[in-house]
Amino acid sequence: MDAIPNPFSGQVEHVQDLHDAAAIEQRLAAAQRAFAAWAAAGFAARAASLRRVAGLLREQAPALAALMRQEMGKLQREGEAEINKAAGVCEYYAEHAQALLADVPIATEARRSHVRHEPLGCLLAVMPWNFPFWQVFRFLAPALMAGNVALLKHASNVPRCADAIAGLLAEAGLPAGVFDVLHIDNEQAATVVADPRIASVSLTGSERAGSAVAANAGKHLKKCVLELGGSDAFIVLADADVEAAVKAAAASRFDNAGQTCIAAKRFIVLPDVADAFVQGLVQAAAQRVYGDPADPQTRLAPMARADLRQELDKQVRQSVAAGAQVLIGGAPLDATHAGYPATVLDQVGPGMPAYSEELFGPVAAIIRVADVQAAIDVANDTDFGLGGSVWGADVAAAEAVANALQCGAAFVNAPVRSDARLPFGGCKRSGYGRELGQAGILELVNAKTVYVA
Ligand code: NDP
Repeated sequence: MDAIPNPFSGQVEHVQDLHDAAAIEQRLAAAQRAFAAWAAAGFAARAASLRRVAGLLREQAPALAALMRQEMGKLQREGEAEINKAAGVCEYYAEHAQALLADVPIATEARRSHVRHEPLGCLLAVMPWNFPFWQVFRFLAPALMAGNVALLKHASNVPRCADAIAGLLAEAGLPAGVFDVLHIDNEQAATVVADPRIASVSLTGSERAGSAVAANAGKHLKKCVLELGGSDAFIVLADADVEAAVKAAAASRFDNAGQTCIAAKRFIVLPDVADAFVQGLVQAAAQRVYGDPADPQTRLAPMARADLRQELDKQVRQSVAAGAQVLIGGAPLDATHAGYPATVLDQVGPGMPAYSEELFGPVAAIIRVADVQAAIDVANDTDFGLGGSVWGADVAAAEAVANALQCGAAFVNAPVRSDARLPFGGCKRSGYGRELGQAGILELVNAKTVYVA
């Protein structure tokens, strides 16, 4: 049983019962029964289903955003944008999955040889709370369009979002068993991963969760896609448009209360622009007024859970003790359940959590460097490798810096973002495999070689 407090009020609004072994078995069996017909239904029928899901998402965006607000504190406005993005990913794969998964002819001495893409079966998604709909749909839309069925183990603090997703798919008329939710703890999840009816696992979350699930999946020879944490660099070169960089930096770091894997976290600044950039970011932080996420005036949401705020507070205090300088914010907001102010830490350097760990909250770490090579070295001086963003007027020079970053996605004069059309994922301790784009959908199928002599 999980009690879920509202992150703004701290009041427990929902208590979630966990499924027992019989309920888990019933869902695994239903998924197995549903698979063959869904795989055989063809792209057009599956696309029609996904388009109906997209329509329902758009229609119900305010109510679905309210659920996210109640469970993990997201601003209502940000929640509605997320729901529309989730609708967009359904529409994108409804439109493009067939072409992305088309047979690939390969010339050999055979009469015909090609690669065809076949669904794997029932996929298990282990998903986090920070984008309770988007993270699920960016996996689910390509997975279902490829002909797979899926079970979702969502984060334990967003069970009503999970049920809402199952409700939407049922309302859209998807056959029973094509998708369902498992309300299970991590021990039960381990038995599901081991179940022979699960073909592969996709996980978004922390390194700790990724390592535990991947170890278990490996033991049972199941493939995994892991999208884990990040500590993305945001490099401001000497010729950058500082105003544009500040605007993007503030949105990337403070939206969603800073709880985004691809948020810019380490702001690496060159001497010519450092003071102007830092001053701009502090001003932007000052405008991030904390409050009720239902209030349209609120500019900064609460963090999702009190324990996450406590962890962030510890990282900030340790960084300050090691020499970081608080320019604004820097301590939990009094008399709030999980409020933390938009914070800017200057003079961040090696030996501080703000330099080497993921800060999963609204805290920007400023790292001042002497030149471009130092900026690249610092950007890569991390265990993570999710994304990176480089700002500079000389686009070729900025792109050269982007190319030197060890990460899964490098953006020039734009913040890192996820996009249905573009592969998304990381290297180093940010995980492996890709979601989205052609690389992403190909993770969800068996690439079968066919050779006709
Ligand atoms: P977790 O990584 O623990 O949770 C993500 C998902 O993994 C949840 O569904 C969780 O389930 C599940 N999970 C965790 N451990 C296991 C396990 N052993 N077996 C099966 N499933 C598991 O995130 P937290 O909520 O604890 O957040 C902690 C930190 O993780 C954050 O501060 C941040 O650094 C990082 N994080 C990164 C995200 C990203 O987008 N890359 C998203 C969320 C967190 P349950 O909730 O039941 O434990």
